[in-house]
Amino acid sequence: MTFAIAPHAIPGIPVAGTDMRFPVHRIYCIGRNYADHAAEMCSAVERVNPIFFNKPADAIVINNGDVPYPPATKELHHEVEMIVALATGGRDIAVADALDHVYAYGVGLDLTRRDLQSIAKAKGNPWDTAKGFDCSAPVSDLHRVSEIGHPGNSRLVLKVNGELRQKTETDMMIFSVAEIIHLLSGLFELQSGDLIYTGTPAGVALLERGDRYHAELEGVATLEGHVI
Ligand code: MN
Repeated sequence: MTFAIAPHAIPGIPVAGTDMRFPVHRIYCIGRNYADHAAEMCSAVERVNPIFFNKPADAIVINNGDVPYPPATKELHHEVEMIVALATGGRDIAVADALDHVYAYGVGLDLTRRDLQSIAKAKGNPWDTAKGFDCSAPVSDLHRVSEIGHPGNSRLVLKVNGELRQKTETDMMIFSVAEIIHLLSGLFELQSGDLIYTGTPAGVALLERGDRYHAELEGVATLEGHVI
């Protein structure tokens, strides 16, 4: 079998301490997973049906690369998030088994065109244009569970131009990593190569051209770059 036109490359994220890349299959994101962020967005916290959305796999930005300011927005927002990379997938994965599927952890930004999201929310429209644009998913190198284990409660911090913007600890998540995997696997067949953005704490705010961001999941991963 040959493809009719040249197939696109598989997006890959560097695996720390190796010369290998993690091949990205899909990017899943959870919304409103920290109560303080839900509050700043004037949204109710729901313990039952979390909001899930996707970004395209080729939206990743790796190697601390520059992020081009996206078109069609005047309100680009940062959302710092812990990233989970899956080695294996499945359907209806039990919470107790969920972490066995994790390959690695990292830190990333769920970049958001907040003005487009506000319009979408008001109209009851999907969030794709607000969330799934090109280069909307900067992500750090991935750190393998085989090297660092599963991080316990970890501090998650974002600074922009040296100024603290977002800070939390990951045990403030409403849905834990295991619960997110469990819930997603009831909606989709998860696969090796899937990447999960696990939600952002309060403090989301504007990014402008020239801004330098520094994101850290303490003891696990760091990510920095410029908006150009
Ligand atoms: Mn987010």
